[in-house]
Amino acid sequence: MGNNIKIVFATGNSHKLQEVNEIAQGSGIEFILPPDNFNPIENGQTFEDNSFIKAKEAAKVSGSISLADDSGLCVEALDGAPGIHSARYDTTPQRRIDKLLKNLAHTDNRKAKFICAMTLTDKDGNVLHQEIGECHGQIATEQYGTNGFGYDPIFIVDGYDITMAQMSEELKNKISHRAKALSKMIRFIQQNL
Ligand code: IMP
Repeated sequence: MGNNIKIVFATGNSHKLQEVNEIAQGSGIEFILPPDNFNPIENGQTFEDNSFIKAKEAAKVSGSISLADDSGLCVEALDGAPGIHSARYDTTPQRRIDKLLKNLAHTDNRKAKFICAMTLTDKDGNVLHQEIGECHGQIATEQYGTNGFGYDPIFIVDGYDITMAQMSEELKNKISHRAKALSKMIRFIQQNL
């Protein structure tokens, strides 16, 4: 199937863009990066707020319908941290993983979930639709695998005995928080735009 609808995807993370285009394959929708002057101030208190801030900013600088995701890892024993601060928990991806493993060293409760909120806005930045996707699992005791990004090497999805970084892209993109939110969003786009 050809791509009929192009939608700006409000991110600077090329991994995320690649994932959403893989998830959207065959849907007739293609996601493209916003212009270089896309520079949102993510000061919301929730994933939903921050996805709205990003989509609104992308609509402002592109003049197009825009979709944004805001996502993160919520760890039960850490009262939901790093949560909306996942991207800034420490200075590098490896340091963020090390910090999380260190902060969990004192507990047996390794329950965690990835959350992804998505907001679709019209070209003027008004909300058209929001969706949430969750992926539940456990934090591994050490890191495994090199696929994916972020906290993937330490996240074991419920029902699997490998981390997200050991999964093929194809499998991650079927079961991830982003896949769940985006599949619902794609249905909305197909039915309403
Ligand atoms: P955002 O770009 O502000 O939404 O930040 C999301 C952050 O959460 C990323 O930088 C990662 O640290 C983490 N994160 C979100 N989704 C994933 C995922 O699918 N795998 C691993 N880490 C993720």
